[in-house]
Amino acid sequence: MADNSLPRQFHKVIVDNIADGVYFVEPNRTIRYWNSGAEKIAGYGAAEVVGKRCYENLLAHVDAQGNSLCLSVCPLAASMGDGETRDVTIWLRHRDGYRKPVRVRTAAVRNEAGAIVGGVETFSDASAVVRAAADADQARRDALTDELTGVPNRRMFDNALRIRLENLARYGWEFGLLVVDIDLFKAVNDRYGHAFGDAVLIGVAHTLEGAVRAGDVVARWGGEEFAVLVEASDSAGLNETAERVRILVAQSEVRHDGLTLPVQVSVGGSLASPTDTPESLFGRADAALYTAKNQGRNRIAIVD
Ligand code: GH3
Ligand code: MG
Ligand code: MG
Repeated sequence: MADNSLPRQFHKVIVDNIADGVYFVEPNRTIRYWNSGAEKIAGYGAAEVVGKRCYENLLAHVDAQGNSLCLSVCPLAASMGDGETRDVTIWLRHRDGYRKPVRVRTAAVRNEAGAIVGGVETFSDASAVVRAAADADQARRDALTDELTGVPNRRMFDNALRIRLENLARYGWEFGLLVVDIDLFKAVNDRYGHAFGDAVLIGVAHTLEGAVRAGDVVARWGGEEFAVLVEASDSAGLNETAERVRILVAQSEVRHDGLTLPVQVSVGGSLASPTDTPESLFGRADAALYTAKNQGRNRIAIVD
């Protein structure tokens, strides 16, 4: 689509500067171009990425079930294979190790003769909580946000939970509670220091935010425990979110001070009933968490 009225560099300047991530790969998936938007979203600069293959343990795209897309159903490879565009939501691994949801669009690039000579992927940040937070008033946000991780604090969570319980009793709007506790966190603190422990908390908070849907609420409940309000009408729905949370954390890493460590969580959960108080609901979810820990950790347990 040549347009002679536009300066020659017009398209390149746009792509260099848009907020969306854009990268170009050759048919063998060697990355040849990586824009500033991609750097902002994924954390990697062009110098770290150009010349590498996209499946070389770099972004490590996974789907909501934790399946690696790189070696099986990579949408970019598929687009280069059949020339069709694709549009999917997946989780990339940020340079800092945490999982981030991105909306990915892939397309084949053809030469003048029509032969496919590469593929282009554009991606944008899909974190619901990131979007919601951008809208909130700063002062109000400070009072209701956990200072270390940036997710809602216990105070905000208590309010949200009270409102959800009222709405359940009044309108029948169903939801569930998950409590998420980092496995063997004390050992990480003891062995690698408190600053590394803090980096673990921040990483897990980021992955959790990216693992839930737009209407769900993730909060730091205290210490190394997070609480999540999940829109769900049955245990199966709550189970699905709990499992996605567990898997995405297990597929993340914490990178701090030149050190990379795996991290895992156990999750307990229960569906709210119209007669619940915050205490009774937390009591059941905590008991389920205790079961998950006892069964060996990196597990979920949902009780009625
Ligand atoms: P389990 O798998 O049974 O949950 O084992 P655990 O080691 O994670 O559980 P435990 O409750 O024994 O340890 C929690 C630790 O969390 C103890 C405390 O030092 C640490 N901790 C609490 N808040 C913070 C924090 O803000 N920063 C850091 N770095 N550590 C914290
Ligand atoms: Mg704990
Ligand atoms: Mg723990």
